[in-house]
Amino acid sequence: MAESVEQLAKQLEETVRQYDPEADFGKIREALAFAEKAHSGQSRASGEPYIVHPIHTALNLADMKLTPNMIMAGLLHDVPEDTKVTLDEIRAKFGDDVAKLVEGITKVGTIKYRGVERYIENLRKMFLTMAEDVRVVIIKFADRLHNLETLSAKPVKKQYRIALESLEIYSPIANRLGMGEIKGRLEDAAFPYVLPKEFEWTKNIQQTALLKQKDYLDKVMKLTRQSLDQAGLKYLDVHGRVKHLYSLYRKLLKHDRSMAGIHDVMAIRVITENIADCYAALGIIHGKWTPLKGRIKDYIAQPKPNGYRSLHTTVFCEDGEVVEFQIRTEEMHLAAEFGIAAHWSYDEQKAENRNGQTTPKIDWMSQLAEIQREIADKQQYFKSLEEVKIDIFKDRIFVFTPQGDVIDLPEDSTPVDFAYLIHTDIGNKCMGARVNDEHASLDRTLKSGDVVEIIIDKSRKGPNPDWLKFVKTRHARSKIRQYARSSISNWIRDVIPKKLLKK
Ligand code: MN
Repeated sequence: MAESVEQLAKQLEETVRQYDPEADFGKIREALAFAEKAHSGQSRASGEPYIVHPIHTALNLADMKLTPNMIMAGLLHDVPEDTKVTLDEIRAKFGDDVAKLVEGITKVGTIKYRGVERYIENLRKMFLTMAEDVRVVIIKFADRLHNLETLSAKPVKKQYRIALESLEIYSPIANRLGMGEIKGRLEDAAFPYVLPKEFEWTKNIQQTALLKQKDYLDKVMKLTRQSLDQAGLKYLDVHGRVKHLYSLYRKLLKHDRSMAGIHDVMAIRVITENIADCYAALGIIHGKWTPLKGRIKDYIAQPKPNGYRSLHTTVFCEDGEVVEFQIRTEEMHLAAEFGIAAHWSYDEQKAENRNGQTTPKIDWMSQLAEIQREIADKQQYFKSLEEVKIDIFKDRIFVFTPQGDVIDLPEDSTPVDFAYLIHTDIGNKCMGARVNDEHASLDRTLKSGDVVEIIIDKSRKGPNPDWLKFVKTRHARSKIRQYARSSISNWIRDVIPKKLLKK
């Protein structure tokens, strides 16, 4: 049964109140009434009044504990496109910032999947928007998520297109921004429309695994809590997490469609108060159960490229079953679920104030973190985030593979830097490059939006040490050096001046 508009509005207000009791609820109600009036007479494919959709969009944003301006922009996001009300009216009533967000969403709204060429074009557009104000993209995700979750009301042809562009465009970007929860929800909602048979197959495998493991894992969680308590370690939560379906599907493909070797359909999460306790908890778990060799991953000391931090370990648990544990602080947990959006969230503020920890250091996020540290006062911080234009993508460029994957690099990077980021082998064997379909030298300086294709020579033995003169990334430099060191002849070439060798 469809929810009433009144109920939804109430739910939105309650959700926001839970994390930001001082939000201007009068203004939020005003935005909702304004949007409702503008959309009056319009309805969704499901037959519900149109306003249900903007409210759900705002609710998705409230789930991420985002700021009132973003909530209002969520409520108003379809107004200029679908109604007679103009952006100027929105600006006059709700201010510059909200109007700018709505304008941004309207612009990204025209992104559609129409074949590979358009797709790359669209990705570029998305990234340029993101560089301007990443909040726009976050609101767009919230919008898309609701559209996906109500896709069954749409004509079949539309279902496929919308689901496909979600998988191909939205989810990689969500991943890039570290928004694990949103990425998972987008993919799982799109999955049945794009690959219905594969969806059923994966779903069956998941259900079977869950049925088998659920009681067992409840028992292990109980034992885990007991062990932590006995050791006197305070923790915030121990809970189970089920792997998102599409991500399980991708993992199954990597494992030749077999469940053998996949131990994380369900995993156990331990949330601790601080980083030291993460390691302490790891020690306690390893004291109780033997860890599998080579399966301990310290993403705290070495975060994933998208900023993900946690400790992972897989242990031989009760009755010899294999179980994965993920250990993290509350702050890391929030960052893993909501990624960049966590920087606008209320909990992040609380976590920072309580632990005095800084935000994870991710290259392109470091600027954001700096601003966060500078502004100690919480209220002031909230206000300034809305006002200050944060150029988190400063000093970074975005280039594309011919398949449309986005690679971010430091300014002045070259095709060699790009090649090594794709794969060490591609770097080692690269002999030339095509940039925007034209031949380019390996030392050419790339710029944002370039489509880069690397030409490799399979018989090539290894990299040219001369590349060290122009590569910009530490990654490429270390790979080239590593290779040089591994081979004596290269080592000689590297150390002895060329002039001498030629003689
Ligand atoms: Mn919409």
